[in-house]
Amino acid sequence: MSLVKVIPLGGCGEIGKNCTVVENEDGLIVIDVGLSFPHEEHYGVDIVVPDFTYLIENKDRVRAIFLTHAHEDHVGALSFLLPHVQAPIYCTKFTSAMVRSKLEERTGMKEVDMKVTQPGDTIDLGSLKVEFVRVTHSIPETCALAVHTPHGVVLFTADFKFDFTPVDGKLSDVGRLTELGREGVLLLMSDSTNIDRPGWGPSESRATEGLGKAVREAPGRVLVTMFSSNIHRMQQCVDVAAANGRKLAVTGRRMETTIDICRRLGYLNIPEGLYVRLDEIGKYRASEILLLVTGSQGEPMAALSQMSRGEYNRLKIVPGDTILYSARPIPGNEGAIWRTINRLVLQGANVVTESDSPIHISGHAYQEEIKMMVNLTQPFYIAPVHGEPRHQDLYRKLAMAMGWPAHRVFTMANGDVLCVDDTKAWIDGRVPSGEVLIDQHGNAAVTSKVLADRSALGHDGVVVVALGIDPKEGTLTSKPEAHVRGFSGPDTAIEDALDDLVDALAKLVPSDLRDTECVEKLVKSVVGQTISRRCQQRPVVMPVLVEA
Ligand SMILES: [Zn+2]
Ligand SMILES: [Zn+2]
Repeated sequence: MSLVKVIPLGGCGEIGKNCTVVENEDGLIVIDVGLSFPHEEHYGVDIVVPDFTYLIENKDRVRAIFLTHAHEDHVGALSFLLPHVQAPIYCTKFTSAMVRSKLEERTGMKEVDMKVTQPGDTIDLGSLKVEFVRVTHSIPETCALAVHTPHGVVLFTADFKFDFTPVDGKLSDVGRLTELGREGVLLLMSDSTNIDRPGWGPSESRATEGLGKAVREAPGRVLVTMFSSNIHRMQQCVDVAAANGRKLAVTGRRMETTIDICRRLGYLNIPEGLYVRLDEIGKYRASEILLLVTGSQGEPMAALSQMSRGEYNRLKIVPGDTILYSARPIPGNEGAIWRTINRLVLQGANVVTESDSPIHISGHAYQEEIKMMVNLTQPFYIAPVHGEPRHQDLYRKLAMAMGWPAHRVFTMANGDVLCVDDTKAWIDGRVPSGEVLIDQHGNAAVTSKVLADRSALGHDGVVVVALGIDPKEGTLTSKPEAHVRGFSGPDTAIEDALDDLVDALAKLVPSDLRDTECVEKLVKSVVGQTISRRCQQRPVVMPVLVEA
């Protein structure tokens, strides 16, 4: 019987850009096409998407794309894949509406082959069948995906938690997960994000209490910042606003669009008259206003960050405002978030964060919930995903404590090819994988070389060395001159570097000077080395040869 291969292209050894291939002789399917956000060394990078080389090379074999839920780390890279790979996209109604709106906004793409499914549906692709199983998470209609293969079920948990009082009342399909376990799960690809949190995660409903308390205590306006995709949290804010006689307004275009989609499709229930436009809030007293604002991650262009700098024209922070941070910092964003909070505090706002009060609840399973998933589904093999190596390693230890032998737990890296036949599973080689860095204009032009240059420019600045040359005759027509920007070393280091360069140039014969590339290399090395020796700095050296 043919092999089944499971190949993560993103989401293994990292939190973000989830994308996995399941492949057999009949073709391949893709589970999720997510993006991740840049970290502090990604200068000038807007988003990060998976390297899709493997999918592009196999584009004629891609039979379908399946999406577990509408979070950016699961759907946000579609606009970069779809121009290269055409295949029908299967997902639930809510996910489809969110994805359509994002694709249209980002690329103007309207013709997308989307097939709307419901939790419980199975899509039959012959030798691979994909079943949607409802799980609870922080966004509506999240589904685990059970991929039925000739060797057994490969179960993708998606992002999940076991929440028995979810905001929308829709429970995880524990019964079906149990049945799948009885039928035999071959491989569990499990969320591991919160594996380091002991116990059982609180229900999302707890956040309603926390938000309600914080709003009751607030003397003036309340601003709640969260992810614009956190629909359940939005509903809780609506409920809390209604219960406390406050009107609800929002800032940020993405949040407005999301609310429109959710209201139209019935995923948000907003009482008549509660929702007001931002320019109408002046009609009400401060204690009658609750605002939803973007910028929980300190994103520089988001509404809250602009307010913190006093640059948001439509709303100024005033003493008496209360700002509730109803989101967990994505690792790497902490610095930007604290700086935003500091600026808000200096303007007189009272800032409440997750650590002060239960106003944010994670959408991911804690340790006991993860154990329950393993116990219900009884997988033969386990591969923790949606986690950094430290999360994957903790998951391996947890699985071993539950009786799984080490050789049946795979802590995979992106690009690893996990092969399964009817008797065993093993990692067999790798396919191209990695990160593609996208700038704010949507171009994938930020290479590792560009990043290294930006890093060097940021640290030690740039020294431009101009030199007149006649490459036909092989002679110099002027002495080298230096112009510096962002360089903090002594002027004498530059003078010494130019002296050394003059000495080195004097040793060249006309045939050397005809080779401009060789001259540029010499300028870089002599000037770079002298400056580094004189003051331990490594500015970027840019030779400019002015040809006579
Ligand atoms: Zn996720
Ligand atoms: Zn998610």
